[in-house]
Amino acid sequence: MKIHEYQAKSMLRSYGVPVPRGEVAYTPIEARNAAKRLGGKVVIKAQIHAGGRGKGGGIQVARNASEAEQFAKQILGMTLVTPQTGPKGKLVRRVLIEEAVETQREFYLGILVDRTAGRIVAIASAEGGMAIEEVAAATPEKILREEFDPIAGFQPYVARKLAFGLGLGPDHLKAMVRLMSGLTKAFTASDASLAEINPLVITAGGELVALDAKMTFDDNALFRHQDIRELRDQDEEEPLEVEASGFGLNYIKLEGNVGCMVNGAGLAMATMDLIQLAGGRPANFLDVGGGASAEQVSHAFQILLRDASVKAVLINIFGGIMRCDVVATGVVEAVRRMEVTVPVVVRLEGTNVEEGRRILEQSGLNFTVGTGMRDAAAKVVALARGERP
Ligand code: GDP
Ligand code: MN
Repeated sequence: MKIHEYQAKSMLRSYGVPVPRGEVAYTPIEARNAAKRLGGKVVIKAQIHAGGRGKGGGIQVARNASEAEQFAKQILGMTLVTPQTGPKGKLVRRVLIEEAVETQREFYLGILVDRTAGRIVAIASAEGGMAIEEVAAATPEKILREEFDPIAGFQPYVARKLAFGLGLGPDHLKAMVRLMSGLTKAFTASDASLAEINPLVITAGGELVALDAKMTFDDNALFRHQDIRELRDQDEEEPLEVEASGFGLNYIKLEGNVGCMVNGAGLAMATMDLIQLAGGRPANFLDVGGGASAEQVSHAFQILLRDASVKAVLINIFGGIMRCDVVATGVVEAVRRMEVTVPVVVRLEGTNVEEGRRILEQSGLNFTVGTGMRDAAAKVVALARGERP
C-alpha cells in the first residue's frame, strides 16, 4: 500500500526526520488559509501516488496566500500526467501547502528491502530529483548502496559512509546520522517496503531536509497497523483491484488483452509467461487462491471481463486443494449474471476435472478446450487477435 507525500512526511517528522512545515488542503480556500498560517513563500504540491509531478505542472511556488489560492485552484481537479501515471494521468484531489525552501544541493536517499540479499539496504545518489531508475540505467556508478546488518540493524557508520560518498562535509555528518536513524526507525516500525526521499536537500541555511517523501508498506503486515490502514486512499488505486481485494482475490491489472484466471500465484506467473511466449500480452494477474469458493470465482470472472481491454480469457486451473467443479460452478454463475462476448479458453486438470468439464459444457458458455498449458496459451493469444486457433 502507498500513501501520499504529506502523510509520509508527517510520519517521518514523528520519527525525527526534518521536513518542511506544511498542511494538506482539499479546496483553494483551505490552501489560502494554510498559506496564511505558514506565512511567506509556499509551495503547492499535487498529492497523487506518483512522482514526476513538477514537470507535469503539479508543483508551483506562490509568493503569498492569494497566489497559493490561485495555484491550488489550478492544480486541484486537474488530471496530472507524469511519466509514472501513464497516459491517462491522475485526478488531483488534494494539495500539500508547504513552506518554500531555498536549496543548495539535492540528493536521493532511499531505504528498501533487498529480497535477493535478504536485507534492508540504503541507496543514495548525488543526482537528487532524478528518478533512481534513470540514474541506474544511465550512470550506475553514481549509485551508492549500503546493506544493514540484520542483527545490528542501522549503524551510524552506514550514514557516515553514504555522507562521504555524496560529498557531504563534516558539518553534515551528525545531521545525516540523525536523519537516517529516524528514517530507518519509521521504515521498520511501519513494516515498510520502501521509504524514499527524493530530493533530500541541503538548504541555503545549511540544514539537511526531506523535500519529498514516498512510502510503500508491505500489505501482508497491514493487519497490525490500524493507523496506516486509515491512510489508504482508494481513489489512487485501480478500481478493479480495489473491488477484487474486497473479495479476497489477488488481482493486478496489466496492459495486455488476454484475461487470465488461474489458481496459485506460481501457476499464474507461469501462465503469464506462456502467453508472452505465444506472442500475446496478459491483461492481468489473477490468483483466485487455493481455497476459493464458487462465489469468489464468479466475482473474479466478472472483474476480469469488466476490463474493456480484455479480448479473450484463459481459465487455467490445476485442481489440487481447489476443485475443478467449484471453479466451473463459479464460472457458470458469472456467465448467468453477465453476457460473455469474448472467447474463452479453458484448461482444467486435477481434482474433479470430469465434473468440472461437464458443468462447463452444460453452461451454454462457448469455450475452447486447451489441451495442456502451451496449447491453451497459443489458442487464447490467437483468439485475442481475432484469429481462429
Ligand atoms: P516529484 O517530481 O513528483 O518527485 O516531486 P518533488 O517533491 O520531488 O519535487 C520536484 C522538484 O521540485 C524537486 O526536486 C525540487 O527541485 C522542487 N521543489 C519542491 N519543493 C520545493 C521547495 O520547497 N523549494 C524549492 N526550491 N524547490 C522545491
Ligand atoms: Mn520527488
